[in-house]
Amino acid sequence: MRPVKYLAAPTWRDAINALAKYPTAKAIAGGSDLLGWIKDDITGAKEPQWDILVDIRTIKEGAAIRFSRNEGLRIGSLATLTDLESAKEVQENYPLLASAVGHPASPGIRNVGTIGGNINQRPRCWYLRGAEFDCYKKGGDFCFAVTGKNEYHAILEGELCYIVHPSDVAPALLALDAKAKILGPKGEKTVPFSEYFVGPRVDVIRENILQHDEVLTEIQIPPPVPSSKSSFLKVTNRGVYDFAIVNIATWLKLNNGSVEDSRIVLSGVAPTPHRSTAAEGVIKGKRIDEALAKQAADQALVRARPMSDNAYKVEIAKTLIRRSLLEAAGA
Ligand SMILES: Cc1cc2nc3c(=O)[nH]c(=O)nc-3n(C[C@H](O)[C@H](O)[C@H](O)COP(=O)(O)OP(=O)(O)OC[C@H]3O[C@@H](n4cnc5c(N)ncnc54)[C@H](O)[C@@H]3O)c2cc1C
Ligand code: SF4
Repeated sequence: MRPVKYLAAPTWRDAINALAKYPTAKAIAGGSDLLGWIKDDITGAKEPQWDILVDIRTIKEGAAIRFSRNEGLRIGSLATLTDLESAKEVQENYPLLASAVGHPASPGIRNVGTIGGNINQRPRCWYLRGAEFDCYKKGGDFCFAVTGKNEYHAILEGELCYIVHPSDVAPALLALDAKAKILGPKGEKTVPFSEYFVGPRVDVIRENILQHDEVLTEIQIPPPVPSSKSSFLKVTNRGVYDFAIVNIATWLKLNNGSVEDSRIVLSGVAPTPHRSTAAEGVIKGKRIDEALAKQAADQALVRARPMSDNAYKVEIAKTLIRRSLLEAAGA
């Protein structure tokens, strides 16, 4: 492991100043993802060798969780997944989020892993994480997954790079219409999570819009909507902690039992969390039953383009969509 310097940031402003000053500095929260990356010494033409860690866990108030009926939920990005899973405000008002934050990894990792780190964690493609593969994402000129082992890769929206977004929390945030508060040298901005993640068509190197000297300070979720229902489901290879083969966050607003509005978001299938407007279109204005849920699931995967080893994911995604719709609607 390369030697690294440590800088503790007492405030968010100190953190972005340090990031702006040092091109090889990186924000570190719980370190459960970043330290593995540094330990494995992952490098590439466009992959900086981080050697200054700017500790943001030292920022007071950075982990605050606040709820009000008028403003909804405000989550400091340094709140751990365990903090969120056990917060009464989350359990009572946002069962979808409470379920999603309880799914990543093991209790030990959720105790140190922050929501900001979960959202901004790097993908798990074994070629990306293998030091010897200089693929597109690291600035090389090849995607090793295309001709290599690709059973966990994308079935939708892949182009140049076929990673899947690894976060269990991100689809729940999109389904809840959440926003990201971002701080950088030019000030603060608030961006919907529907615009936060970046796929390879836009930029093959990055997975989100954050610039090197910007940080995610807060996650904002609107007040709970009366008569809304939700469901979070995840399929993994192993019963104990594992990344999703496919996961799904479904949010429905019902009116006399029919769907007035919906957000259906999957991870594990595409380079960014994938909102299925196709499935949403099928259920709009209708009462969900087995046949409609199946129709929505089939429609959601019409554009799937599986790779050589991952066609099995198409059926898993369809099954999860169907089950999730029936569960959320109580049908
Ligand atoms: C064995 C294992 C299994 C896992 N399984 C799952 C799983 O099933 N599902 C799942 O969703 N996740 C899973 N994870 C990922 C885990 O949830 C993340 O590692 C964790 O949430 C990251 O949080 P952290 O605070 O430790 O982030 P760090 O490791 O400190 O940071 C991760 C990245 O985010 C950046 N970052 C952190 N906070 C901010 C911020 N506020 N603003 C800007 N950038 C920031 C860092 O610079 C770094 O690039 C697993 C991890 C491990 C090690
Ligand atoms: S899928 Fe993306 S990260 Fe993996 S080898 Fe291909 S270009 Fe690299």
